[in-house]
Amino acid sequence: VKHDPRPEEPVVAGIDIGGTKIAAAAVSAAGQVLSRAAISTEAERGFDDGLRRISALVQRVLEEAQVDPANLRAIGIGCAGPVDPVAGTIDNPYTLPTWDGVNIIDPLRATFGVPVALENDADAAAMGEYWLGAGRDGRIVVMVTVGTGIGGGVIVDGHIYRGVDGAHPEIGHLALDPTGPACYCGARGCWESIASGPAIAEAARAHGLSPVGAGLPGKDSGSDKPAPTLVTGERVVALARSGDPVAQAVIDRAAQATARAVFSLINLYVPDIIVLGGGVMEAHDLFEPAIRTLVERDTMAPVDRIAIRKAALGGDAGLLGAARIALDL
Ligand SMILES: [Zn+2]
Repeated sequence: VKHDPRPEEPVVAGIDIGGTKIAAAAVSAAGQVLSRAAISTEAERGFDDGLRRISALVQRVLEEAQVDPANLRAIGIGCAGPVDPVAGTIDNPYTLPTWDGVNIIDPLRATFGVPVALENDADAAAMGEYWLGAGRDGRIVVMVTVGTGIGGGVIVDGHIYRGVDGAHPEIGHLALDPTGPACYCGARGCWESIASGPAIAEAARAHGLSPVGAGLPGKDSGSDKPAPTLVTGERVVALARSGDPVAQAVIDRAAQATARAVFSLINLYVPDIIVLGGGVMEAHDLFEPAIRTLVERDTMAPVDRIAIRKAALGGDAGLLGAARIALDL
């Protein structure tokens, strides 16, 4: 399919930078993806190398979309945080070790001659769901990504909510259980340390779930694929669905924590819409009853006016949100 945007139609580039993959897309003002491509991050090769490959990736999606670089209006980046959106620096020694402290905005602005914005990937995902997904038409939208970690973004009247000095709300570190697991942030019982994919896997291991899964029921039983060698969040979900009581107890604990977190988000932000996305929320149906039970008990917020929805854009939320951020520059 050939896309033929009118020459005057603005086209932006969205970039989604994660620890393992960098995706880019040329996107029209209406939110149509004109072309897309991805490369592996390989942060260990250093930032100069990464920057060269990111520039080439943007050039490639523009060429494939047959967009004259002169018609590129702006570039938006969503990046695994922490990032400083004001300074344009990536401050993530965890998943982008050699990129820690680098400014990514200035060199891209110089190369392409357009405005460039950098945001935390959770904020970019929130913007994507607000623009084209489950948060559409909401005035206040809270979007939470529950996956390897738990990150959230809050959109207010179309803008990303920011704290002091542009700081990003760390929704995954809502402290829910003082007796819960220690979190790397310094607190105990953070939402992320109870209900992220790795936290679910760790809790299952601690409760004696077999690491190999041999002989355990699950979606891999009877297939030609070798049994998984690690307990993963996905594996625990599959075991919970097949009736394993340990897996069900672990998922129930994660669901209770998620329900408490959603309850708190409702009382903090009183949003129109809460969007729950990320890999763990693919099992939204296992979490939904606990959330609903607790939220329906809320006598303070107008909960009948608040929609709690599963995310609609999957892995594209961050990429599309980055494009929307570019369009707003
Ligand atoms: Zn924490």
